[in-house]
Amino acid sequence: MSSEPLKIETLSEAKYRNDIKIQAFRASECKKLHRLADKLEQCRKGKRCRLLACSICLRRFRLNYLKEHLPVWTKLIKQCPVHYISAINRVPVDVNVDTLGDFKKWFEQCLKQYGFDKIPLVGGVDYSWNYENGRNYICQHFHFLVSVYDRKPLMECLKKSFFRDSTVSRPVYPKILKSYSDLRKALNYTIPAYFEKRYRYLAKKRHYTKHYPLSDKQGRELYLFLSSNTPQDLMIIHDISQKGGD
Ligand SMILES: [Zn+2]
Repeated sequence: MSSEPLKIETLSEAKYRNDIKIQAFRASECKKLHRLADKLEQCRKGKRCRLLACSICLRRFRLNYLKEHLPVWTKLIKQCPVHYISAINRVPVDVNVDTLGDFKKWFEQCLKQYGFDKIPLVGGVDYSWNYENGRNYICQHFHFLVSVYDRKPLMECLKKSFFRDSTVSRPVYPKILKSYSDLRKALNYTIPAYFEKRYRYLAKKRHYTKHYPLSDKQGRELYLFLSSNTPQDLMIIHDISQKGGD
């Protein structure tokens, strides 16, 4: 077992990310964004704002999440194979209609339809601003860990909801986790520390992705959409107490 500390964002990185967001929110005409900037500025020890837009509160949530789930999954991986799965939804987010809560409900429905609602699973939602084929939109993804002996039926189930199109050849991407170090890295990845812009392009018949920070405008639109959400809202979890969780 590796004792190397897990690399997660530092408090000063989180503060820096908040400063950038506060500046971007303040530069807008939107009152809601100004209120969000106030809350981020007033976030203090003992009086946390608990907003998803706040990188400090998100970091605190991520630290607790890792502390709570890493031991559970470390036990689980000794009993049953653990897979990391990332699933990309091809339908652009409509910020006027969609919500983070509805996306999670839809995902649970997808799993339930094929009887996968009781499998050990933990993970979260990630948002990115995708640029591809001349279009740009907010895209929602799931990144999660599951423990199953045979992942094929689960993959079949997921592919029915996370379908492929001309831009993405593998909307559902699985990876078996072989070591404790794999497990830590994957779990850390399931709840993102920040959202980013992804530029996808095709070169020599292969898809590539470049990653960039969100522009102020993109950040404003995304955090306005998520303004009432908490870091906890990103998480999806199944009760695994029935299966080696203790
Ligand atoms: Zn906060």
